[in-house]
Amino acid sequence: MSRVLALLDEKTLHYVQAGQENVKIKCLNPEHDDSNPSCQVHIHTGAVHCFSCGFKTNIYKHFGMQTHFADQKTYAIKKKIRNILDNKPLAIPPGSVPVREEFRGLTLQTLRDHEAFESTEYPNTVLFPIRNYSNDITHLLGRYKTDNVKPKYMVEPKGRPLGMYPLKKFEAINGWAILVEGIFDYLNLKDNNLDASLCTFGCNSITEKSHEKFLMPLLATGCTKFLFMYDADKAGREGVRLAKEIMEKYYPHVQVKSFNLGDGRDPGDLNQDEIADLKEKLLAL
Ligand SMILES: [Zn+2]
Repeated sequence: MSRVLALLDEKTLHYVQAGQENVKIKCLNPEHDDSNPSCQVHIHTGAVHCFSCGFKTNIYKHFGMQTHFADQKTYAIKKKIRNILDNKPLAIPPGSVPVREEFRGLTLQTLRDHEAFESTEYPNTVLFPIRNYSNDITHLLGRYKTDNVKPKYMVEPKGRPLGMYPLKKFEAINGWAILVEGIFDYLNLKDNNLDASLCTFGCNSITEKSHEKFLMPLLATGCTKFLFMYDADKAGREGVRLAKEIMEKYYPHVQVKSFNLGDGRDPGDLNQDEIADLKEKLLAL
């Protein structure tokens, strides 16, 4: 038995299994009157996270005990090694169900087309399987339903870099690919019939190390032009600058442009008319 579970027993905290590495208990946040256990405790690290109120702590810290750093460190190292070595495809957790309603302004159809699902293993979260070119699932990406939980996204497994998304459904428009930062930016464009976009999961994905893996397959499908539509903030601008530099260095024949939406807007905010307009512009470029 893990030391964490032994501690829960000792404190007579009732728990139920929640996936392979977590259990759920009633929330430890005194301000949260938790009738259904919604507070997740990691059985190796003792990390506590309530998916309902966002409360976070560590079980050892909560009881004023010294954290078993040795446990945590061993676990983190083991997990990292396992993630790197174990490239076995993931599976959608058993018992998961497809999403049943619209989420964040996206139609049910678009969500279903992207296999959005919910799982009791990841409460209060809408999840997407991320697939590689062979259609194997490499990651599960989740977005918490409530905005008060930070970070808003979770990804499994940690430590395995995300590629681009989606690789299968992408179709260049007039040779153009639109690169956006977030999965919901991509989904919003897709929801409005713009198929030419890909999400790079953040603005630092195209690096000296990763560019071949990401860009070569796209170039092979006839994509010769890249339009960056990253968030109009400092990080977004710097990400575009670095990515442009790398692309101009290694792929001098491709066109790279960036499109500034301005005013702190991102592609997830664009409405139907604006996206139709953008599509027309791409066809004319
Ligand atoms: Zn709570």
